[in-house]
Amino acid sequence: MATLRLILADQLSHSLASLQDYDLENDWVLMAEVRTEASYVKHHKKKIAFLFSAMRHFAKELTDHGHKLVYRQYDDKHNQGSLKAEVELLCKKQSIDRIVLTHPGEYRVLADMKTWQDNLGIEVEIREDDRFLASLSEFADWAKDRKQLRMEFFYREMRKAWHFLMDGDKPVGDKWNYDSANRKALPKDMSPPKPTMFEPDSITQDVIKLVSTEFADHFGELDKFHFAVTREQALVVLQEFIEQRLINFGDYQDAMVEGEPWMYHSHISFYLNCGLLTPKEVIEQAEYAYRKGDAPLNATEGFIRQVLGWREYVRGLYWLKMPGYKDENFLEAKGSLPKFFWDTHTQMNCLHQCIKETSENAYAHHIQRLMIIGNFALLAGLHPDEVNEWYLIVYADAYEWVEMPNVTGMILFADGGLLASKPYAASGSYINKMSNYCQNCHYSVKEKNGAQACPFNYLYWDFLDRNKEKLGNNPRLGMPYRTLNNMSDEKRQTIQRDSQVFFKALEQDEKV
Ligand SMILES: Cc1cc2nc3c(=O)[nH]c(=O)nc-3n(C[C@H](O)[C@H](O)[C@H](O)COP(=O)(O)OP(=O)(O)OC[C@H]3O[C@@H](n4cnc5c(N)ncnc54)[C@H](O)[C@@H]3O)c2cc1C
Ligand code: SF4
Repeated sequence: MATLRLILADQLSHSLASLQDYDLENDWVLMAEVRTEASYVKHHKKKIAFLFSAMRHFAKELTDHGHKLVYRQYDDKHNQGSLKAEVELLCKKQSIDRIVLTHPGEYRVLADMKTWQDNLGIEVEIREDDRFLASLSEFADWAKDRKQLRMEFFYREMRKAWHFLMDGDKPVGDKWNYDSANRKALPKDMSPPKPTMFEPDSITQDVIKLVSTEFADHFGELDKFHFAVTREQALVVLQEFIEQRLINFGDYQDAMVEGEPWMYHSHISFYLNCGLLTPKEVIEQAEYAYRKGDAPLNATEGFIRQVLGWREYVRGLYWLKMPGYKDENFLEAKGSLPKFFWDTHTQMNCLHQCIKETSENAYAHHIQRLMIIGNFALLAGLHPDEVNEWYLIVYADAYEWVEMPNVTGMILFADGGLLASKPYAASGSYINKMSNYCQNCHYSVKEKNGAQACPFNYLYWDFLDRNKEKLGNNPRLGMPYRTLNNMSDEKRQTIQRDSQVFFKALEQDEKV
């Protein structure tokens, strides 16, 4: 009996469910760089280079461990173009009579896999992806019968279930959440350590060459590639984060500084999401640093909440709500993505910096994704389909299970408050408080109206005004709506006029 075990680009873990009980004598592993996956959206060049290189390194490790493996490179003339066609071919060649898979990260891929057993006439077993700390059924059980789903309550259950950062049955420090301590701007005399960087080896160099020819029209820059592409290297990134950055992760989690794309963040999402690191080991290392006295509680708790709370929560939500979640558009947003999302040409310095760094690094840290780019997409009323596609393309850590809840739920409030209790909308003064972007901007953050005024200032009030019917009763928006209601008619009309001028300029592809 020969079993085929297919490994996807985001399944590069030796502990993967579908690699368990592998029979060295009879079984085959298949890995393939296929067109359907590499270009169903036009992924950032660095994202493709990273994943192809990480896949090739992982395949080499499996072969070194004695696995029989077929690896199909993108430019192989026999490349079948899709996962299913590659599976079918290998099944025929090696008389395979069973296919073992690990649950994929995207609904689209799962739907395809579910057809294979009937279409190929071979038994297909899809195993749970147990690299996540909450199984899909555990999440569904937690969500069942709840009027509201809130990350905070799920996170507390996860802390208890896994006994992370607990003293007996109490949270360490007697508080579950230290977010209020994590909102400082970066002092002028502080500069974050340089990120961990690796020189591309010959495998990565081959892949970079391939990507530069085959994906030349995709978004983003390919030079200065420095990602980790093996587990060994990813562990170095993790270790250096714990030693050098975790101490300040909490305090400056929300801070943004021009020319500092990496700040005190961990830069491990690429590796967690493709399987080179596991969430469990990441959390354990952070907790160990805290217990040794090497990291403060606000930083450790803040970091663990992101991995154990948000990461698991958005995944649970995605699978609970798909496929309908894809079509959510609670605020009936219709706007098209402005051109500057692709070419970075805008006079709004905050957006210019964040999109430029995204193009250079296939990375932006959370608060840039949320409070600059996301905030703009919300205030400008951009259509969820276009915003989702952009976010899926541009970040090297982007997979639909994590990207979509963050976009549809967190930034666009398109799910009507399923993920977040209120929209993350903010005017220029928030951006000015948390960053130094405004100092080099064409617009003035102090001005509220007129041609020189920061567009976030009037767009913020226009957004609330436009969506009053749907958001006016949100208890968490009581204060801004009271302010809006107390505004004079004249002030409101000025806000509307400025916003219309801005939207018209966007529509006509003028530089804003
Ligand atoms: C609009 C938008 C889109 C996003 N798209 C993605 C995406 O495609 N892929 C992705 O991994 N993350 C996404 N995030 C979440 C977050 O921005 C990134 O995980 C983070 O910036 C990755 O950088 P880091 O590893 O340095 O994270 P850190 O700030 O160091 O955080 C540590 C880890 O916590 C996890 N995490 C933190 N916040 C979230 C969150 N909101 N959802 C899920 N996991 C979280 C990540 O695994 C991250 O590596 C998105 C956030 C927003 C607002
Ligand atoms: S002034 Fe407004 S547009 Fe310019 S950087 Fe500040 S927040 Fe951004």
